[in-house]
Amino acid sequence: MIDDLLAGDIPGHETWSRRHYLVATVGIAALGGCSGTDGGGETASETDSASPVDPETTEPPGDEEAEELPEGVSEDEFEFGPVPDAYLSAVSLGNETRNPDELLAKADVGFAEYDDAAENQAHQPGACCANCADYIPDKNGDGFGACAEVEGYIGGEDWCTVYETLPEPSVPEGMTESDLATAPVPEAYRTADSQAGEGRSPDKLLAQADVNLMESAEAIADGAARPGQSCGNCAEFIPDENGDGWGACARVEGYIAAEDWCVIWEHITEEL
Ligand code: SF4
Ligand code: SF4
Repeated sequence: MIDDLLAGDIPGHETWSRRHYLVATVGIAALGGCSGTDGGGETASETDSASPVDPETTEPPGDEEAEELPEGVSEDEFEFGPVPDAYLSAVSLGNETRNPDELLAKADVGFAEYDDAAENQAHQPGACCANCADYIPDKNGDGFGACAEVEGYIGGEDWCTVYETLPEPSVPEGMTESDLATAPVPEAYRTADSQAGEGRSPDKLLAQADVNLMESAEAIADGAARPGQSCGNCAEFIPDENGDGWGACARVEGYIAAEDWCVIWEHITEEL
């Protein structure tokens, strides 16, 4: 599939540029602007006994049809947690550590799937969990991740009112922004394995310009990417290891950030 994509036209290729940063406009400030939700809701604890779901009045968030649940996970667990152990105190894409005793309920933050989120006036085009600083990507191959702020199972294509734009990494010292696309990455990344175990070969990498690398939120807003796609939850991504906010990629050269995206994106779940 990758070869097919590269052999054909790449959407938006002519207009490609290294990075198109979006101005952070939502974030925590959106808490007060969401109609019909109470973004400042009480925090919940996954160690508390979960509130029972009343099947007469409660549906899975943002989806009238029954969402396919991970095997062995009840609707209550999906909604309220607890999530599997690997996520309980995990670190999010934006380096937020999840505290299972201080989480918001989905119902209090306007949690919804992307298409339904568009109806919320706080939602910005392209914003979804996969490019949110609080997202914790899939770790066990069930297709769902978790969140450092919100309880229960979370999909990359979901969204809520406490969405937080990932911080823009600074250009490393001694480099310019135009260097980032082709610069050799630091030693720790050169032959590292991606987060799904794909080995990086520095001599077999694709150019960023050839895979239309751009910001995930912009790609989704433009229709080049589907909701839920970002480098942060791509099988080829090598997360930041030195604290500068930049990671790398097992298939693409140069500096790569969690909020980026390209046309050869592959869901991390496919390789777990
Ligand atoms: S990861 Fe999703 S659920 Fe969590 S804060 Fe961000 S937008 Fe909300
Ligand atoms: S991590 Fe995935 S989406 Fe990001 S540049 Fe690499 S292949 Fe493309």
